[in-house]
Amino acid sequence: MKKKFETEAIRTQIERTEFQEHSSPIYLTSSFVFEDAEDMRASFAEEKKRNIYSRYSNPNSSEFIEKVCKMEGAEDGFAFSSGMAAVFSTFAALLESGDHIVSARSIFGSTHSLFTQFFPRWNIAHSYFRIHRPEEIEKLIRPETKMIYAESPTNPGVDILDLAKLSRIARKNNILLVIDNCFATPYLQQPIRFGADLVIHSGTKLMDGQGRVLAGITVGNGALIDKIYRFSRIAGPSLSPFNAWLLSKSLETLAVRVDRHCENALAVARFLETHSSVEWVKYPFLESHPQYDLAKKQMKAGGCVVSFEIKGGLEAGRGFFDAINTLSLSANLGDARSIVTHPASTTHSKLSLSERAETGITDGMVRISVGLEHVDDIITDLRQALESCN
Ligand SMILES: *Cc1c(COP(=O)(O)O)cnc(C)c1O
Repeated sequence: MKKKFETEAIRTQIERTEFQEHSSPIYLTSSFVFEDAEDMRASFAEEKKRNIYSRYSNPNSSEFIEKVCKMEGAEDGFAFSSGMAAVFSTFAALLESGDHIVSARSIFGSTHSLFTQFFPRWNIAHSYFRIHRPEEIEKLIRPETKMIYAESPTNPGVDILDLAKLSRIARKNNILLVIDNCFATPYLQQPIRFGADLVIHSGTKLMDGQGRVLAGITVGNGALIDKIYRFSRIAGPSLSPFNAWLLSKSLETLAVRVDRHCENALAVARFLETHSSVEWVKYPFLESHPQYDLAKKQMKAGGCVVSFEIKGGLEAGRGFFDAINTLSLSANLGDARSIVTHPASTTHSKLSLSERAETGITDGMVRISVGLEHVDDIITDLRQALESCN
């Protein structure tokens, strides 16, 4: 019988060795040996499913992949050395020259840069739809369109996209739906349940949750993953066994960590809503979020990211960041340590003013990745920083 999410996250393990270890060992090996000539031939002919070389597969990556597949309800997956390696390899394995992608406008900065700076070289085109206008999608679909691509919640605006609606459009037009589920984690949202074909994660964020590693994974339909596997075993973006081991251990505590992240984030969002120096606050599980009902339908809780606007724009924003004591000024998210970021001057500074406006990034916008410190200390630091900048 299928076990519950938390149990699968803990009990999915590769086979024990003769030592009967309780926690899976780390297989720091680049290759694996064959018993004889026939074993070698049959392994390479893929008549046998076994480890050959760690660029193709490794027991630690296999354990990590199997866990994420169970968590996301996916048939198969491949693990990558970073979230961007997963994003790039998924596109590279599935798209050809002349193909076209319809993507949400609000996507991770480096994914946007792939579309705009590199894909034109390989004659892969993209069109963006505005996140609040999914009805634009059908108008953008052409005969060469192979894929709809989106993230939900988005970064840094924490807007919610209707995954079931995206999936209906993809099915109707016979194209793939690929979702970057990094902000939600499989614990809060499983896009395959709503009809996505593939789900991508940056394991660097909440999956590891402790800011130690870069990692990525793509899971979903078996035939599509096979194409991604065949590309990746040659191109070589594979996850290292050590990082795979860390990730697999981190997933054992994903549910309890993410529960606390969400509890703290909601408390921080509620505090910000009452503060006079704050223009607006956005968090998927705040009643004031424009897609609160949709968020409730798709997600178990709101995630770790809260965004808000400081009154007084850029100047007040600089004062706020300089006054922060406990929280970290950093570009990451999904860490046990709370992090504050200023998208307009960091992650989204390469965008023009009008591009920034289109993605809803204003000068005074702050993104907080709410961590696992005691929530009172997080709020105390935010309160004193808000007080000192206005
Ligand atoms: C961080 C992130 C990525 C990229 O992941 P890396 O591990 O940094 O390469 C992709 N998508 C989203 C939504 C992210 O937050």
